[in-house]
Amino acid sequence: MAIVWPCPLSVDAYVAAGRDVEFPRPDCPSCAGPLVFWSGYRRHVRVAGRCRKIFVPRLRCSPCRVSHALLPAFVLAWRLDVAETVGTVIVQVAGGGCGVRPAAARAGVPYTTARGWVRRFRARALELGTAFAALAVELGGEAIGPAGQPGRFALDAIGAAFAAAAGLPGWLGLGAWRFASSVSGGRLIAANTGSPFLVAGKRRFMPPVPSAPP
Ligand SMILES: [Zn+2]
Repeated sequence: MAIVWPCPLSVDAYVAAGRDVEFPRPDCPSCAGPLVFWSGYRRHVRVAGRCRKIFVPRLRCSPCRVSHALLPAFVLAWRLDVAETVGTVIVQVAGGGCGVRPAAARAGVPYTTARGWVRRFRARALELGTAFAALAVELGGEAIGPAGQPGRFALDAIGAAFAAAAGLPGWLGLGAWRFASSVSGGRLIAANTGSPFLVAGKRRFMPPVPSAPP
């Protein structure tokens, strides 16, 4: 299981820092006990058409005997492209601005990849809209009702939840898609989801670390 932390760093800064990133140390999502750093692995992310390799630490809970990958919010679980790229394509297509092909071309990703994101988003749109609308209300934001079109509803709800979260310290600078990745545990457009919004529903999403003053 992955834990997504609201990483404020650019991908370049994250890559450059390597193992010296100031990783947070959240509690175990299952038992709320302490987690300890336990190795890690490297994975690729693609940003602006270029693949980068990032270090992902693993955290282990001894009582639960499980380890959790600690993903930065700019990635989505099992997706190569950064959350901002995925989100931009989804906004353009599901928002009705253009078709998949021009959106994919602008983002510099294969057509089939972009089509997969949009299909997954549309398939989950009602569920996503409902979850993010609830989160928006929980955070004191605007109440969003289902629009005629589920994709539009989901986008509006993500926007409303992010607008509400942006009033809390640290979230504004992350942008809507890192926020969405954080609160969904990276499973925004995952194929199999148990209950992706447990993290948000239990109010256990991690507050962002304020970025260091320049
Ligand atoms: Zn545990």
